[in-house]
Amino acid sequence: PPDVELLGRSSWTLLHSITATYPVAPSPTQQSDAKTFMSLFGKLYPCWVCAEDFQDFMARNRVRTESRQAFGEWMCEAHNEVNRKLGKREFDCSRWEERWRTGWRD
Ligand code: FAD
Repeated sequence: PPDVELLGRSSWTLLHSITATYPVAPSPTQQSDAKTFMSLFGKLYPCWVCAEDFQDFMARNRVRTESRQAFGEWMCEAHNEVNRKLGKREFDCSRWEERWRTGWRD
């Protein structure tokens, strides 16, 4: 249904934007806030079959919050997991910051 797609696009925009503005060198509190946020996001995401699979992904792939780069790459990998599941093209995670923070250079 289209609302799952609109919700998804909007949510990925929020999630990647959060990693793009996450500190380069986060404090322990900032790191634990990011982990808590992702854990609650996984529980509250209002597409329940999506949320179940996302929680499962997080159980297998612990969220990496030790730096902006680590968090951004982790989010890109999480998004690629969903892309694979839906038969979409995988995104080149070496370019996540170009897409979500600094802007494309082309
Ligand atoms: P989106 O996948 O929404 O991507 C938006 C933009 O992000 C793309 O145009 C591209 O520029 C960029 N992008 C793409 N891949 C990456 C990446 N790996 N890293 C960084 N940037 C990237 N839908 C379902 O039908 N079933 C599900 O189980 C499901 N689970 C989801 C779980 C979560 C946590 C979220 C947030 C969404 C989920 N969705 C699910 C929605 C799905 O991921 C898409 O958002 C939706 O299908 C719309 O896809 P889209 O092609 O418009 O682009």
